[in-house]
Amino acid sequence: MKLKIVELTKEKDRYLAVVEYLDGGIEFYPDGKGGQLGDRGSLGEAHVVEVDREGNLFLDMELGLGVYEYLIDMDRRCEIGKNHTTQHIISAYLKKKYDYDTVGFRMGEEYSTVDFPSLDLIDSGKIKDLEEEVNRIIGKDMNIEVLELSREEAGQIESLRKSISDKIVGKIKVVKIEDFDMNACGGFHIQSTKEIGLFKVVNYEKVKKTITRVYYKAGKLAYEDYYEKHNIIKKSTTQLSSTVEEVNDKIDCLLEENKSKTKELSSLYHDYSELLCEKLKANAKIQGENKIIIYKKNDAVTKFFPKFIGNEKYSVIHGEDGNFTVMSRAINCGELKNNLEELGYIVKGGGNSTRINLRIDINIEKIVDIFMKLL
Ligand SMILES: [Zn+2]
Repeated sequence: MKLKIVELTKEKDRYLAVVEYLDGGIEFYPDGKGGQLGDRGSLGEAHVVEVDREGNLFLDMELGLGVYEYLIDMDRRCEIGKNHTTQHIISAYLKKKYDYDTVGFRMGEEYSTVDFPSLDLIDSGKIKDLEEEVNRIIGKDMNIEVLELSREEAGQIESLRKSISDKIVGKIKVVKIEDFDMNACGGFHIQSTKEIGLFKVVNYEKVKKTITRVYYKAGKLAYEDYYEKHNIIKKSTTQLSSTVEEVNDKIDCLLEENKSKTKELSSLYHDYSELLCEKLKANAKIQGENKIIIYKKNDAVTKFFPKFIGNEKYSVIHGEDGNFTVMSRAINCGELKNNLEELGYIVKGGGNSTRINLRIDINIEKIVDIFMKLL
């Protein structure tokens, strides 16, 4: 198939081509039209990465004006058709079962969503029923026809799921799934429900206060999802030495164990910090009336320093790897930061006059040195 680029403009890192199709070739389907994904393919050496609503093509490289051979990725179009036809089945089933109208549809590269104007659908039992029924219809191998009708002919069909919008002019495409559903639609469809293979609801949630949004995957996307999740759960069973059924209980157990260990550890840090602080106080550096504690770490015990080292008598400088804390009433801690900046250092962090956190690329000795000069 051939088309002609009649105009090409650079748009950020892509090129937007205005094209004319030659010899009645198939046109690239626009992204977002009818809530559906657009076509992808190639045009000469370039890839078509997006199609705008006017049918103009975004290319990943620059091409000159002129005639080019082009290809549309028909496998992708078929998968889009499966996911889109699945929406017809979901919408038809929920209309029949609960009289819900479909109020929104959006197809993405990873999943599609359909919106229904009732929160009653937020119910795991109803979602399971939807999955089972849609998969049952898929398995029934129902024939799908696309009828091209005039507005008058289409208007006479009583079983049309949704009335036809006044915006549509000319011939109307009506998608007929045997005696199950009839609905006007211009998107991609497949020829039999069986082609879809598999349907899975991957999530559902409340949106805009009154709407249930159903997230689903169909066809290859659903198989890939199953494959990926199967691998994740398989790895988890190996990691936890458990069966699939035991995985959640094992994780609950580990989380509970972790919680109690964290509590136990915190209590040990507390007691250890008390002992350590006695030792640090005994070995404090003394300058005049000031006692300075230097601790070259940033570990969990430092959290308890304010409790066990009174800052009336002691100044504390602790930290490592460019991250330091200074607690002191002997100097104004803010001044220490200003001093370092005046010396040309880039200092991040902050605090107040008695406690400051400094993120600076020097060692603790340099900080102690400047601290001493400020006393
Ligand atoms: Zn459709």
